[in-house]
Amino acid sequence: MVLLSFLNPFSEEAEQIVREKSSLEELFNKNKDLIDIIAHTNSQNISNDELIPHTLAELAVKRLEWFVRKKNDKKYDHNDYSFLMNPDMAIYDIISFYIAAQSIGIRFNPNSRESRVFIESQGQLVQERLEKLSTSLRKEVVAKLLNQLIPLDNISWTSLGELFGSRKINLTDLIIDQGEVILDKEDFIYRFSDKIIGRVPEKMYDILIGDQIKELIINRMIMQNTENYLLKVHEMASNIEAHPSLIVIADEISKMLKERTSIFSGSGDIQASKLVGEAFPPCIKNTIDGVSSGNRNDAIVLLLTSFISYARLYPSVFKNETNLKISDLDKGLKITNNEILPVIYEAAGRCTPPLFEDDPQEKLNITAKLGFGVHRVPDLNNEGESKWYTPMSCEKIKIHLPVLCKPDKDCKKISNPLSYYNRRKWIMNQSPDSKSPEEKDKSTKKED
Ligand code: SF4
Repeated sequence: MVLLSFLNPFSEEAEQIVREKSSLEELFNKNKDLIDIIAHTNSQNISNDELIPHTLAELAVKRLEWFVRKKNDKKYDHNDYSFLMNPDMAIYDIISFYIAAQSIGIRFNPNSRESRVFIESQGQLVQERLEKLSTSLRKEVVAKLLNQLIPLDNISWTSLGELFGSRKINLTDLIIDQGEVILDKEDFIYRFSDKIIGRVPEKMYDILIGDQIKELIINRMIMQNTENYLLKVHEMASNIEAHPSLIVIADEISKMLKERTSIFSGSGDIQASKLVGEAFPPCIKNTIDGVSSGNRNDAIVLLLTSFISYARLYPSVFKNETNLKISDLDKGLKITNNEILPVIYEAAGRCTPPLFEDDPQEKLNITAKLGFGVHRVPDLNNEGESKWYTPMSCEKIKIHLPVLCKPDKDCKKISNPLSYYNRRKWIMNQSPDSKSPEEKDKSTKKED
């Protein structure tokens, strides 16, 4: 059933297809059969030649382009990418999955934007491809996929540990009984029917588990397997010389993401601008004033570093939901070095005892939280070794750093200090009298 491999590129059949039908020498050759399938895909837009991948290399890039455009482009038209949902494409789709995975794995870190977009795009493809199936076929396919991915009748919750660890799934998403994840309807009824009072057990199963939880597990396992595969390729790449075609494709993917995300990152209402201290929420002002040991390290490294960097470079991160790197917004790291790090380092110096005197290692952790790995200072060559952390939510701050959270009236309707900051800046811009002309100029000044 090639359809299963269209959904799960890690099936034995998919791996066999790649072994037998792919050749690194043909990645840039025009593929007539591929073009023919795409041109005959239902509802596919063929008005513009650029919409149609002519080679396997182009198809590998298109998979990611589809995802970033769908997520961010207001002009996105699903019919431009209908071919990605066409099971007749399965063989080429599987090959293009491995081309993209190997290119990205060889060239970029597992935490890089390229890796993250690829993993997320695979999850989204699986979900949308399942949604295209008829109800009965979808049920059959889900059962078979689950069997491929977890070939056991009784699923111990610990066997999904990797998914919990990477937060792809929460324990609260699942029904667990005596250490086993309950997915089967009969099993659910056998275990719980005498405990369910006033409700029909079958209906409770449909509400609590049904096919949605099975599909969630399938989706997240394929994403996790994709992540593991990228990591494996990345580790192997340090010992083996990469095929030049894969490097070219990796650069094409990176170029496309850079172009697409730079188009969309400026499309939100909230633009990057100079920091406006007056609009900082109480928790951030308290951190900048200096924190005493106990809360000090987390306040500077986890809370302040992510808040200041996003507030200065990418205040619309939660609105846009686009993965960006610092260098996408601050190419030469001038803003990072001259405006962001000084605020963080000065706040670290105001702590009691001063953070770096007491714990010099934390300077490396600050660099890591900005996405540049564990190094003394941010360097473009190290970008992607770690993740650029988004600001903590108010909920987490209240739990982990309660002494810093002293809510004021503007804290009422927000869930994150960055939302507070954007809202305060917006309010300040509405009432020009509330700040000085110098501040007005600061808050409206655009990116260099
Ligand atoms: S409610 Fe949120 S923004 Fe306000 S002080 Fe507390 S943590 Fe900060």
